[in-house]
Amino acid sequence: MPQDKFTYDHILIRYGELSTKGKNRKDFIKRLYTNVKHALMMFDGIEIEKTHDRMYIHLNQNDPFAIKPYLEKVFGISSFSFALRVNSEIEAIKDAVLSYVKTQEPKTFKIAARRSDKKFSMISDEINRAVASIILKNTEWKVNVREPQVKIQIEVHEQDTYIMMDKYPGAGGYPVGVGGKAMVMLSGGIDSPIASYLTMKRGVAIECVHYASPPYTSSQAQEKVLELARLLAPYQGHIVVHIVPFTDLQLAIYEHCDESYAITIMRRMMYRIAERLAEKQNCLAIVNGESIGQVASQTLESMRTINDVIALPVIRPVATMDKVEIIDLARKIGTYETSILPWEDCCTIFTPKNPVTKPTIKKAEYLESRFDFEKMVEECVAQTKIVHVYPVKKEDEATEDLF
Ligand code: ATP
Ligand code: MG
Repeated sequence: MPQDKFTYDHILIRYGELSTKGKNRKDFIKRLYTNVKHALMMFDGIEIEKTHDRMYIHLNQNDPFAIKPYLEKVFGISSFSFALRVNSEIEAIKDAVLSYVKTQEPKTFKIAARRSDKKFSMISDEINRAVASIILKNTEWKVNVREPQVKIQIEVHEQDTYIMMDKYPGAGGYPVGVGGKAMVMLSGGIDSPIASYLTMKRGVAIECVHYASPPYTSSQAQEKVLELARLLAPYQGHIVVHIVPFTDLQLAIYEHCDESYAITIMRRMMYRIAERLAEKQNCLAIVNGESIGQVASQTLESMRTINDVIALPVIRPVATMDKVEIIDLARKIGTYETSILPWEDCCTIFTPKNPVTKPTIKKAEYLESRFDFEKMVEECVAQTKIVHVYPVKKEDEATEDLF
């Protein structure tokens, strides 16, 4: 809503899924507070206040419309509104609402008052009527309770009252960090960025691991993965990406194993490396973009055979989603266009003609016994390079080929 004479001084934040009580609730609010503060770091002078059921941003002259896109990426917020704060006195409330409507063309409206301070001398309905009548007396605005053009929300707290005209949906979920940390296997595709997003949405912070096979994969492929991480970074501040030099291990797999099992063995190696990096980085789970039935390596039989090599839980947020649903979400969060750039990742290049769809653990183990993969896995972990990715590209972020 463009403002001319009327300016907001606060943003009111409503908490997301907060069914939990006690300490969990405290942790939720504390984490959300930290995350909001971090997301809005570049806005000078803002102050954040947290209470048990609301969070308030004191704008101190900042433009709420500039803040909005950043706030929309903070998980744990169900909705937020730009607000004008006045003392909790009926005359002050009436004056503020009237001064707002006078800056606008006449519209239909509804007043929705809510008292969180039950000691306030009027009940909600009385506030609604008192404020509505002052508007009707002094302006051309008309009441429409069913479908108002503007719903004027008034929240009365003990000392302060917030007057709001809009409500913007928040990102939902839990504040990133309340649920610990997981290691996401991030390829350059469509699925794993969505798996990352959905994981963060449940309050789990992420680090990412990417397997690169230069010279079979290009520096553009690597840059594409970092760009995807950059698009995901605003949801948690910044993302650590582990780039694993995978070429030697991948070539050894093709040398020693049957072609039809190459993908199965390759993925077992990826899981082993991911688990080691996860443990090193205090991650409690591994996340990937596998979707049941999407390709040969993602049948339940494959998943079982691949999953068998590690003990950490593997979370597959898009396991049951259709590709079109995943694509819709990728478009919505803005990763799709980057994901469909043509650069090959290591899987696409080494794809065998007839990958087995029902690999067995026994055969996989037999094929792996033909070479000393353990040493190579260790080597991969030791040679892994770390890149810190920020929402806006920083100069010290790696751009050239890492290997
Ligand atoms: P995506 O679109 O995310 O690449 P996909 O449909 O192409 O998924 P696969 O290539 O079979 O599926 O990979 C399944 C999952 O394995 C990916 O979603 C990702 O989590 C992980 N993965 C695959 N290749 C890599 C890689 N080079 N580096 C890191 N993780 C990978
Ligand atoms: Mg892929």
